[in-house]
Amino acid sequence: MIKAIEYFLEIIRGVVITGRHFFVNMFFHTLKVLGIKTKRKGAVTIQYPEEKKKIAARHRSLHRLVPGENGKPRCVACMLCATVCPSECIYIEAAEDPDLEMQKYPAKFIIDIGRCCFCGFCVEACPEDAIRMDTAEVELAEYNRDDLVYDLDRLLR
Ligand code: SF4
Ligand code: SF4
Repeated sequence: MIKAIEYFLEIIRGVVITGRHFFVNMFFHTLKVLGIKTKRKGAVTIQYPEEKKKIAARHRSLHRLVPGENGKPRCVACMLCATVCPSECIYIEAAEDPDLEMQKYPAKFIIDIGRCCFCGFCVEACPEDAIRMDTAEVELAEYNRDDLVYDLDRLLR
């Protein structure tokens, strides 16, 4: 009998907690609809895609290759990013650079974003700070998988 009472008390407690969240969130949502700003964050659903949430400064989004002063990629085709990539989605073809300081440059640099898991290892591994994931581009859906294969020009932009 005591067990049954405890059981029903827990059910009532759960309903009270759920109800409290419902009415508090409904209250703040109504204020938002009426254009009244409050300090409270998080309770209100963001109406994506009309409304977008600010992306955090430390986010990882679509890759880009960083250009040097001459406009060419800073990348020296050392292959570290391709080696560390767990998804094996980076393909680089190195070519000799007449600039002795550079020695090599990427004749081809391809990332298959469709396979990328956005771990950021490539960015961490790069000794030249030549690849970054700071474009804030997160809407990457395509109808065709081939359109998710980003080449050098697309990555340099
Ligand atoms: S983010 Fe990770 S999975 Fe994507 S290309 Fe870089 S290392 Fe590979
Ligand atoms: S680790 Fe950096 S320098 Fe090396 S191939 Fe990748 S992007 Fe280029």
